[in-house]
Amino acid sequence: MKRLAILGSTGSIGTQTLDVARWRGYRIEALAAGRNAALLLDQAREFRPSLVACAAEVADAVRPHLPAGTRLVTGAAGVEEVATADADVVVAAIPGIDGLAPTAAALAAGRHVALANKEAMVVAGPLMWQLARGSGARITPVDSEHAALYQCLLGEPAESVAGLVLTASGGPFLDGPADLSRVTVEQALAHPNWAMGPKVTIDSATLFNKGLEVLEAHFLFDVPLERIEVVVHPQSLVHGLVRYVDGNVMAQVGPHDMRVPIQYALETPARPPVPLEPLPLRGSWEFLEPDHARFPSLRLAYRAGELGGLAPAYLNAADEVAVAAFLERRIRFDAIPELLAAALAAAPRGALGWEALAAADAEARRLTHEAVAGLGRPA
Ligand code: MG
Repeated sequence: MKRLAILGSTGSIGTQTLDVARWRGYRIEALAAGRNAALLLDQAREFRPSLVACAAEVADAVRPHLPAGTRLVTGAAGVEEVATADADVVVAAIPGIDGLAPTAAALAAGRHVALANKEAMVVAGPLMWQLARGSGARITPVDSEHAALYQCLLGEPAESVAGLVLTASGGPFLDGPADLSRVTVEQALAHPNWAMGPKVTIDSATLFNKGLEVLEAHFLFDVPLERIEVVVHPQSLVHGLVRYVDGNVMAQVGPHDMRVPIQYALETPARPPVPLEPLPLRGSWEFLEPDHARFPSLRLAYRAGELGGLAPAYLNAADEVAVAAFLERRIRFDAIPELLAAALAAAPRGALGWEALAAADAEARRLTHEAVAGLGRPA
């Protein structure tokens, strides 16, 4: 029986990982959540982990209701304890830059990390691999596109690979409107295929999520950016494809159910059965060129990857601030790529390192907060 530690247990990936744990009968060793005390308590009562972490401000609401034998820890140090708990797999599913330090801690401790925190690869890929190589840690991707590519690449030598193709659903604005300046938060959150957290859903609406995934694939699979393509595939059933030098293209197909890639990331190379209906193979599947004029964020991600060093960190930090401001209705939807472009233009050409990364993240946030304030509220 596998023993899991889950970073971000109350989020979308965390709760679906616990579904897989119910299917498979996994032992849950440790859970880390933020402020969702009620859900964390439900999870702790059901799975009886030896350790749970939560934000310090909800600790008093959590502590008295924990089952006997479950220890509570708080704050960043608490999350790190969960990340390095004695588990077979650590699921790294704390979104955004907050997921970086615990992911690094799990890798430094030599754990098998099932990686859902794409930012770890996007802003710190080389540093994460350095930790993994030093400790013998293993990384398997949870993101559906990367789980697809991982499967298509399995057992193939690097010199056979001509390129990677990531599919994008196109998000809620694939078919319009032509002018994205007036779209609302509710419209942007209405993703056609996937139920996900708010940040990644807005990133899907701008196509920036696919940009992050291009960078994630670049660092995860060590394939140059110019050999990574994006195609819009509104049906979201083909998740990724690998082009081989001999003209073959391998694709992975699966349902819109994150529990499938999650279980694969935990079990690979094994394929235990899942209690899901077989995917019906009917209808037509389309593959379209992304609309770079309406969705400029995708190319900005490529640009950041070409610049390398701290540029991806700048772009990622700016996006976290810009998306939060959009969700708070402080800026228009089409201001998001403008803020990203401004941050990228200001990105320093410094080399990547842990301290430089933290400083770059803070500076890009400061600049973008300032730019948001300068835009004024949308009419
Ligand atoms: Mg994805």
